[in-house]
Parts: sequence; C-alpha cells; structure tokens
Amino acid sequence: MPQSWTQPPTVAVVGGGLAGLAAGCALASAGMKVTLFERRPYLGGRASSYQHPGTGEVIDNCQHVLLGCCTNLIDFYERTGVAGSIRWFERMTFLEPGGRASEIGPSSLPAPLHTTPAFLRASCLEVADKVAIARAMMALAPTTPRDTGESFLGWLNRHGQTVRAIERFWKPVLVSALNEEVDRVSVPYAAQVMRESFLKSAEAGRMGVPTVPLTDLYSAAGNYIRERQGDVQFRTSAESFRAELSHVKLVVGEKEETFDYAVFALPFDSLERILPDSSASQPLRDALARFETSPITGIHLWFDRIISDLDHAVLLDRTIQWMFHKSKLQNRNSNGHGSYVELVVSASKTLVDKSKQEIVDLAVSELREFFPAARDANLLKSTVIKEVHATYSPRPGIEAERPRPETVWPRVFLAGDWTATGWPATMEGAVRSGYLAAQSLARVAGQKDATFLVPNLPATGFMRLFG
Ligand SMILES: Cc1cc2nc3c(=O)[nH]c(=O)nc-3n(C[C@H](O)[C@H](O)[C@H](O)COP(=O)(O)OP(=O)(O)OC[C@H]3O[C@@H](n4cnc5c(N)ncnc54)[C@H](O)[C@@H]3O)c2cc1C
Repeated sequence: MPQSWTQPPTVAVVGGGLAGLAAGCALASAGMKVTLFERRPYLGGRASSYQHPGTGEVIDNCQHVLLGCCTNLIDFYERTGVAGSIRWFERMTFLEPGGRASEIGPSSLPAPLHTTPAFLRASCLEVADKVAIARAMMALAPTTPRDTGESFLGWLNRHGQTVRAIERFWKPVLVSALNEEVDRVSVPYAAQVMRESFLKSAEAGRMGVPTVPLTDLYSAAGNYIRERQGDVQFRTSAESFRAELSHVKLVVGEKEETFDYAVFALPFDSLERILPDSSASQPLRDALARFETSPITGIHLWFDRIISDLDHAVLLDRTIQWMFHKSKLQNRNSNGHGSYVELVVSASKTLVDKSKQEIVDLAVSELREFFPAARDANLLKSTVIKEVHATYSPRPGIEAERPRPETVWPRVFLAGDWTATGWPATMEGAVRSGYLAAQSLARVAGQKDATFLVPNLPATGFMRLFG
C-alpha cells in the first residue's frame, strides 16, 4: 500500500462486463477496496451465458472467440485462473456451399509468409484472387494506413481486389472481426485486424474458443475481486452520480453511496442516461451521440445426429457466416449423439426484421448445403438471439470520438469497448479499456508507476522490420 494511503481508497466500478471486471480486478490487485455494481444477476455483460427459458439449455449470448494477439484478455484469463478453459486452434476451415473445404493455417515460413502455402492450396480462391490478396497484404504489412474518411471497400477496390477475393476472403474475415460491412469500416481498423491476425506472427493469428459457458468463464473475476476485500452487487443499477472534489456520490437503486473514485464501464447509451445534467457533461454527450451500432444474430440449433466432424468453420457465399459445433467445443452430449451448433451472422441487418421461424428455416436450409449429414438430421429445437445493438460501428471518423479514461471529473474514469483503446469492439478492447481506466485511477490515487496494460505480441520473421 502506498505510504500516502491511511486507508485503501474505495472505488465503485459500475458494469460487470469485461471492461468493469478487468478494471475491478486490476484495482483490487493494487490494494483498493472495489465495489462492483451490475444491473443483471450475472457477470460477463455482452459476453455472458444463461439458462434459456425456451430450450432449457445454458446458451452463450453469442459465440465469443479471441485471437492470440489479444494479450490483455489472455492476461486477464491468467489473472483470474481460467486460461485453461480456452482451446486454441491453429487452422480455420473455409467451406463452400457443397462442402468443399480450404484450410488456412500457418507453416514454418517466417511471418508474414507463414500462411502463404495454405493460401496457395486454398481451392475457394483462383490464382488471380490469391495474387490480388498477396498484393494488398504487402501494402498493409509495413504500417497501418491513416483514416482519411475512405471505407475499406474503397481501399480494396483501389488495390485491385477481385470480386471473389472480396467475397471469399476479405468479407468473411473482416465482417466477423469488426461486425460491420466493409463499405462502412474505416481503413485503419481493417488494416489492424489483418496485420495482427494474418501478418505479424503465427501465434497472433491462432483462434481461442472457450470450452465452458461464458458466465462460468467470467464469474471467476467476481471471485477474484471478493477475495481481495471487494464486493460484487448484482441486480443493482447505477441511476446517477455527482462528482465532488474529494469523493463521488453514486445513486444505486434507492440508495446514495459515497466512494473515493468511480469507474463507469457501461455501454455508451447506458452511460449517457446517468451523466449529470450539467454543461460539464455536454462534450461527452455530443461524442456519444455520434456512435452508431451494428447487430449480430446467433442461431442455435440442436440436431438428433452428428452433422459434422469439424469444431468450427467459416461458411462462404451465404447468409450464415460461421458454424461453431458447440457440443464438440464444450464437450456436451458425452453420449456422442446429436449436434448442437451455433451459427453466427455478424452485421446481420438483413435479419433484424425477420421472425425467429424465418431465420431458422433459412439457416437450416443453408446449413444443409455445407454439411450433407445435416440433410437427414432432424432439428430437435432451436432459438435465435438477435443483439440489435451488438457493438459500435467502426466507421471512418469514429476513432476521434472515442473518449479516453480520464474525464472532466478528476475522480471519475470511463471504460468500455467503445472508449479509446485503439482496438475494435472486442473482448480484448474491453479488457484494455478496463486496464487503462484502472491505470489512470491508480496513478491519480498515488500509485505513480501503476501499469496494468500488457504489451502487444512482438512481430516475428520479416515483420520485425516493420515493428
Ligand atoms: C452477439 C455478440 C457477439 C460478439 N462476439 C465477439 C467475439 O467473438 N469476440 C470478441 O472479442 N468480442 C465479441 N463481441 C464483443 C464483446 O462482447 C464486447 O466488446 C465486450 O464484451 C464489451 O464489454 P464491455 O464491458 O465494454 O460492455 P458490456 O459487456 O456491455 O458490459 C456492460 C455491463 O454494464 C451493465 N450495466 C448497464 N447499465 C448499467 C447500470 N446503469 N448500472 C449497473 N450496470 C449496468 C450491463 O448489464 C453489462 O453487464 C460480441 C458482442 C456481441 C453482442
């Protein structure tokens, strides 16, 4: 404990998603007394799971995956003791309708050439597509381009991409990573995804999938806070706050509580609702008003027999984009009968107004094109989870609106996947935001050298030339 403290500072963390949990864990580890308030009865926020009333199954709000480049998320898993619940995959299978598979994975060649042999073998792309992709990758390797207002689709067209390269490579990778159409994505966001996941190193590009339901994964962070003299209060909604010179007053439920500091780790629309009605809030309110969101739809299907040997696959040329074989990934159905799969559609604007039945019918008929075994399988039950405001839209210009953790109120800090982390709206972005807010708060509270953010993975091979 720093000598300047007679008592550990008290900190209210509002929001039990990954941003709030990461901030809470970091501050608790630094000796502060953390009270975390979460509106729902469970932790994880958008990355959570729950017992679904219609099917009686525990389902994830949506499948969540990470990549090897998510160094802060991995640090958070290690800190909370759940890193062993992530299964890592080196290869991704791209499936065409009809079932032909192309596997993309690393070789022993140095970065950025490590995936070249797999690309050369990939049957879903023609030679002209591969040459075009290689040219674009060479343009992205040295540095991340600046945001000039151009969309990434404009950039791809300027860099001579074929229609098939865009449809079968750039879109599948970027729409799922950024949850937005490529004609609405800013160039630096797209470039960062490609540099981190395909170019920098083989380790950065591997994909991690949780083997347990998401709330099991993230409940460990609540225990971490409690074990360090902290408290986690569920079903408790922050209604408003007042920042004074020496403390922060927070209205939670019916009560007003006083803390030395507060971290608001809320989605931007929830934050907007609790900001003080004063001129000091106006610049932040104006910035929040410029954020837009994009939807994700998860389609959960239970079949009476096994429909594929694959753990997951990218699905090309159709509405459904990814298949995650949940019964295999989470080791459910230990008697070996049946498949539980989740199909994910990112930037799913075309599905928002469709009924559950229309979406299930479309998904099952498309799935049967990719997996012949699904044609004879009976659908036992199904559900559709539409997250209409899943993540903020990473469109050109938005980076400038993302606020830093420090606010006009010296004792109030912001976190959340939409704040200024340099990362898109991902679990890694959320954890980074929590660590950044905790770092700023700890420094204001007297821990001048507090550092919670961990560095990026180093570039390897020839990518070391570019850093
Ligand atoms: C469908 C879907 C699929 C996704 N897939 C992936 C993926 O594969 N990989 C990936 O990296 N990311 C993915 N993401 C993004 C990822 O889930 C988010 O970026 C991340 O979880 C955001 O965390 P957060 O803490 O910033 O916000 P949230 O998770 O939204 O947490 C905010 C919390 O605040 C609580 N809250 C709100 N208002 C109040 C209040 N007034 N008082 C108290 N509590 C309040 C909410 O209940 C919530 O728990 C996906 C998101 C969605 C929606």
